[in-house]
Amino acid sequence: MKATELYAPTLRESPAEAELLSHKLMLRAGFIRKAAGGMYSYLPLAWRTMKKIMQIIREEMDAKGGQEIMMPITQPAEIWQESGRWAVYGDEMMRLKDRHGREFALGPTHEEMITTLIRGEVKSYKQLPLMLYQIQNKYRDEIRPRFGLMRSREFVMKDLYSFDKDVDGMNISYKKMYDAYDKIFSRCGLKFRPVEADNGAIGGGHSHEFTVLAPSGESSIAYCEKCDFAASDEKAELKVIKAEAENLKDLEKIETPDCHTIEMVKNFLQVPIEKTIKAVAFQDDDGRLILAFVRGDHEVNEIKVLNSVEGALHLHMAEESAINSVGGCAGFMSPIGLKDGAVIVVDSTVMEMYNAVAGANEVDKHFINVTPRRDFDAEKIIVADIRKVQEGDPCPRCGEKLKMTRGIEVGQVFTLGNKYSKSLSATFLDENGKEQFFEMGCYGIGVGRTMAAAIEQNNDKDGIIWHPAIAPFEVVVVPVNAKEISQLEYAEKIYSELKNSGIDVLLDDRKERAGVKFKDCDLIGYPIRVTVSPKTLENDSVEIKIRKSGEILNFNRGEVVEKICAELKKLF
Ligand code: ATP
Ligand code: MG
Repeated sequence: MKATELYAPTLRESPAEAELLSHKLMLRAGFIRKAAGGMYSYLPLAWRTMKKIMQIIREEMDAKGGQEIMMPITQPAEIWQESGRWAVYGDEMMRLKDRHGREFALGPTHEEMITTLIRGEVKSYKQLPLMLYQIQNKYRDEIRPRFGLMRSREFVMKDLYSFDKDVDGMNISYKKMYDAYDKIFSRCGLKFRPVEADNGAIGGGHSHEFTVLAPSGESSIAYCEKCDFAASDEKAELKVIKAEAENLKDLEKIETPDCHTIEMVKNFLQVPIEKTIKAVAFQDDDGRLILAFVRGDHEVNEIKVLNSVEGALHLHMAEESAINSVGGCAGFMSPIGLKDGAVIVVDSTVMEMYNAVAGANEVDKHFINVTPRRDFDAEKIIVADIRKVQEGDPCPRCGEKLKMTRGIEVGQVFTLGNKYSKSLSATFLDENGKEQFFEMGCYGIGVGRTMAAAIEQNNDKDGIIWHPAIAPFEVVVVPVNAKEISQLEYAEKIYSELKNSGIDVLLDDRKERAGVKFKDCDLIGYPIRVTVSPKTLENDSVEIKIRKSGEILNFNRGEVVEKICAELKKLF
């Protein structure tokens, strides 16, 4: 392709609307343009990259037995009503009506659609396992669409759904997809980690998020350098930390004037923070009061609290009146002496403390010498791992100190079990002629988010640095002065030769100044630039610049194609 025919409107200035580097670079380098909040047009450069990512995805899905299909984006409300998700999906779902007043949704995901597609048609265990996937636009009316393609309202997703006859089969399908994802993100040249994830509202068994490591990422990950443990901070299971045993002292209530934060108590009593217990008070959707207790230096993990309390769907900060109704006192809470009516969840590590400090459920009063195993009413409390992981916590697998890093979730794999086959009555006949629900899995990859994550991870002050597997073009040939016929012709010949040997190459035949063209090449981030200048012409050679390393090489005319192929190969 020739640059004079390519639509890639680059900008000199950094656009003010963009916060995130990948978003800025995609706007500046002429990859995307905004149509509305969270809605973007992909221009040729972006679409070329996305098509390459989609091709890698297709190859790896097909290699595992996936079959590509295409379902409608517009989905009838009835199937969502049947699964029970029409009401609970909330404002994130974009809904519309047809001319007859019939309700539809723009698909945020396709569990309902695919389950109703195969139900009644896949009748026998002999037709299983079955893996179907599609690559298409998804719609989620995110509360805060931002960061360009990272969190948009319309985005391209690959979603695959697996159907198996039993749990063992489902786990095999899960493993196949896990391995495929590993290959996909490696082939895209990304540094990533599969991270144990919370299953969220989707339900079912296990789940991993594939997370590209980047400081700008929205997810926080705990990982171990010694073993391969990695988990999202929402999920990371933690070991109980046992305090050193002490002689038990008598529980005592003391005055702690104005000490309504843990910092104040610790300073006032001159005790280490690890000797204190703090509380966070929540209410669920039904108004139930849920009191969570952790060690003073730990933080409460709301998701873990939610998972430990049966029937709770969401948590909100508690109203003071709710706290008072059980005899509690905000800022001075403890489980000791509370009236019935609150769900009390105590972190497992708290149960291992001796002679600690906790609130006394009265203004300006605390208990000292609290030993939870002795002083908390075991009948009334739930003991669970409810704290947030912190840097330095022991690895739950090997005990090594955990590290924290940030990342971008580009894909997620889930086992769903029979959640959807049950709610949508999708069954088959097993070996014994008995009716069974399908065991399902679902597996998504955000194509645009993967492209954005690649930019977040690979850039410098001059622009994007593409891995050749997903670069819009692998090589660009630049005659520094395209008005000079000899230079242009020389460059055109090299361009044709590279093209004929299967390289995805662009000829920058624009009659711009060399400086402008070089700047654009760096901004767009082609992995290899081939320069033809009066100087190289004199020696019948070309100059090569490797975008990633900045390395400059000179090749003689005769060896150009062979050498460039070799350089490109090194970058893969
Ligand atoms: P998040 O937690 O970031 O909102 P999610 O867990 O809801 O994402 P999934 O339902 O697992 O997302 O979707 C599969 C993939 O689709 C994600 O891993 C991500 O790459 C992509 N994706 C999800 N939401 C968006 C969005 N708003 N914009 C762009 N890509 C998205
Ligand atoms: Mg996800």
